[in-house]
Amino acid sequence: MAIINERIEAAFYSRTDEGYMCGLCPHGCRIRFGEYGLCGSRRADEDMLVAYSYGRVSSLCVDPIEKKPLFHFHPHARCFSVGGIGCNMRCRHCQNYAISMLSSGKKRTTYERPDELVDLSRREGQNIIAFTYNEPSIWYEYIMEVARLDPELEIVLVTNGLVSREPLLKLCSVADAMNIDIKGFTDGFYVDVCGAHLADVLRSTETVFQQGVHLELTYLVIPGYNDSEDEIRRFCEWVRDSLSPTVPVHFTRFHPDNEMTDVQWTPVETVMTCRDIGLGCGLKHVYVGNTLSDEADDTYCPDCGEVVVRRLGYLVDVVGLDGSRCSHCGCEMNIIR
Ligand code: SF4
Ligand code: SF4
Repeated sequence: MAIINERIEAAFYSRTDEGYMCGLCPHGCRIRFGEYGLCGSRRADEDMLVAYSYGRVSSLCVDPIEKKPLFHFHPHARCFSVGGIGCNMRCRHCQNYAISMLSSGKKRTTYERPDELVDLSRREGQNIIAFTYNEPSIWYEYIMEVARLDPELEIVLVTNGLVSREPLLKLCSVADAMNIDIKGFTDGFYVDVCGAHLADVLRSTETVFQQGVHLELTYLVIPGYNDSEDEIRRFCEWVRDSLSPTVPVHFTRFHPDNEMTDVQWTPVETVMTCRDIGLGCGLKHVYVGNTLSDEADDTYCPDCGEVVVRRLGYLVDVVGLDGSRCSHCGCEMNIIR
């Protein structure tokens, strides 16, 4: 990686006649000199492809880890959440469009060197740093540098999973946990609503699982778009068969936003039905999000059925865990503590 006049050279690109080809994600943008890639995070200068969004921070916040959502990764912990700018998807329902959709440079950001970000996180007393809000994988160089500077920091990525294999493997080598959005289970939905392909995201998700990174999945249920029982069942069967029945799945309610203000909130009954389908398929940990639930957000031991973590919103009570084992029956659970 070259640092020239404080410009950071992007990783994963090759030269073309008129500029560069970026290999960070499956879009494989061909970027002409003076232009930006689709995500807004890479700029083609004459001498190199620049990681333009490096260090440009749009959002900083201390959050409950459950908000990511991660329910099986240090339950009840807090994390230092950091967002940048840009995204390699174009979701019509994006809630964070102010930071994800603007071409870089238009959104107000502050520049934080990686060592400054590490110091900030430590000063807040946080051991977990979550790259979230916009798509973190397009911040590849920045995240890798933060991880290099403080290997003791636990790294969380909340991602859409649209990353090429080689950078993904590198990110897996530094990440402790990921929450990947599975936005629907048809390619048509991905193409029409998100500007990407389902197969690319599924392939990445399987890679993350195979690499042993703690993995949870979020499926935002949008009425009339990705909520048919058949589609939900096929998604749950894929989780069970291609990943593991113990991977936690979060079905969350859509609320009208961005270009989809004409679509209604997801009825609570719909996410409850999705949960029932998941449990019926044999998934062990299925949760609902963006709604308060008495029981659907608790964690149960898959062997004896006892509650091990109680939740009401972000109120979290670890009531039945001994390390990562159920304290009632001793079952080893997919929970990092
Ligand atoms: S990371 Fe950005 S510039 Fe690179 S291929 Fe993907 S969308 Fe294009
Ligand atoms: S992937 Fe996430 S940040 Fe990117 S456009 Fe979609 S919802 Fe927004």
